[in-house]
Amino acid sequence: AEPIEYEGQPQVLLVITDVTNTKEVERLKAIDQLKTEFVANISHELKTPLAAIKAYAETILMSIEMLDQQTLNEFVQIIYKESQHLESILEGLLDFSKLEQRMMTLEKTTFDLTGLVRETMRSIEELARSKQVRLELLTKEPVLIRADQKRIKQVITNLVNNGIKYSKEDSQEKYVRVRIERKGDKVLIEISDNGLGIPKEYHEKVFERFFRVGTVMDHRVEGTGLGLTIAKQIVELHGGRIWLESEPNVGTTVFVELPVGDER
Ligand code: ADP
Repeated sequence: AEPIEYEGQPQVLLVITDVTNTKEVERLKAIDQLKTEFVANISHELKTPLAAIKAYAETILMSIEMLDQQTLNEFVQIIYKESQHLESILEGLLDFSKLEQRMMTLEKTTFDLTGLVRETMRSIEELARSKQVRLELLTKEPVLIRADQKRIKQVITNLVNNGIKYSKEDSQEKYVRVRIERKGDKVLIEISDNGLGIPKEYHEKVFERFFRVGTVMDHRVEGTGLGLTIAKQIVELHGGRIWLESEPNVGTTVFVELPVGDER
């Protein structure tokens, strides 16, 4: 700054802009925007199964005498399935708030991770088939770890589900492959798909809460933007790491590294 004179004394005028504050305002704005999108997403997520439940229940109420046993059965099945879907969305929200408040505790036991992954993939098989995605478990041998079985299952379910959800609609030979490898006192789980992929600038952002690639407008796929956040928090609670490699239009591989823990 140019020195200026004031009552014979040289003076310096300093203009200080609080950059940190501007950045903070921008950060808060971004969080606010994510929250708005989150509310839109979650409302839509809840509304879809709820609308189906309501419509099928109404049809049954209005015309129960006209429905044959098979149709009635079908409708009740849909109501049941959609209720389960609602329940899983709510469970995700509850887990998220538990994790945020650091209230989640792990119940560790020793189990075979390969077996757990096999069982998990079996329970998602039907969904995968309906989207023409082939599920493959490349590892056959058992890998013992000490961890919270229910929570690890939740992580695997989330990651395999994402592989199915974000597959390319028009593509042939769609797959989600899982590989498990023991490396010293750690185990590495790789979940790969040949789906939509994620642009490089979002490889870390997708693990942040509420974050989804693209805008609400171009979301063909339903979601809350919490799946990867929950997965990351569960993995880190176990003392592990999670990261991904991905290329748009080629596919994504998510890596989960867990300590095997005390196997006894
Ligand atoms: P949700 O699926 O509910 O949006 P996630 O936290 O599981 O939330 O994922 C965040 C975002 O990361 C998704 O919205 C999607 O844009 C992107 N994403 C996650 N997994 C994949 C994948 N396997 N392939 C392509 N994009 C993915």
